[in-house]
Amino acid sequence: MKINPEIFYLLIFFIFGTIIGSFLNVVIYRLPREKSLISPPSSCPNCGHKVRWYENIPIISYIFLKGKCSECKTPISIRYPVVEFITGVLFSLGYLKFGISIDLIFSLIFISLVIALTFIDFDFKIIPDEINLIGFVSGIIYSFFRQDFSAVDALIGAAVGAGFLWLIAFLYLKYRGIEGLGMGDVKLLAFFGTYFGWFGSLFIIFFGSLIGAVFGILSAYLSKAEDKSTYEIPFGPFLSLAAIIYLFFGEYIKQFYFGL
Ligand SMILES: [Zn+2]
Repeated sequence: MKINPEIFYLLIFFIFGTIIGSFLNVVIYRLPREKSLISPPSSCPNCGHKVRWYENIPIISYIFLKGKCSECKTPISIRYPVVEFITGVLFSLGYLKFGISIDLIFSLIFISLVIALTFIDFDFKIIPDEINLIGFVSGIIYSFFRQDFSAVDALIGAAVGAGFLWLIAFLYLKYRGIEGLGMGDVKLLAFFGTYFGWFGSLFIIFFGSLIGAVFGILSAYLSKAEDKSTYEIPFGPFLSLAAIIYLFFGEYIKQFYFGL
């Protein structure tokens, strides 16, 4: 039987993605709790049962364990296999878009960081400085390998993105007296700017705000909360979603915009 090499690579990158996703689950759980990412090995938070290697296979183990700890039967969050699956899919799409290249390596780093910070922001309403810093530094390093994008473009992107978002946060605080945006979001745009330049940064802010606004209106409409004005939604996941869209479709978005 002959397997199409393209499908073989897609599968390899999917599996690789689920393994990285499994590690991202550890990062998402431990980084905001300021626990070590390396030790101790994973255990059940309820009974302390040490997760054996065959109970730790991405996605598959969750299905075999029927989503429960093998010892005490405490349910394991569906989020674990979901994060693994999303990472797997985005890694395959990364391969599909960039092929085997330097661009692929940095896009996989980018995807991993974005998945980790999205879920941490959902849970804790914070974006760890460590993630923004690694992202920023990786974007600068990446710029040295790129043909039509220099370190200067990366720094301008960071300054424009972070500066613009900081200005919005400042005006919001000044005129509405509420802290609508955290500094974590501002630093996040410094990270995204190093990958996508000034145009990408601005697109991510506008498009991320648009997705966030639609989501905010929908969830305020659906929720039964009395006081909707204090309903707090993290902004990071929407900026991240916009950034992932820009990662895959950035050149088309740019062409479309400048072609108008
Ligand atoms: Zn247990």
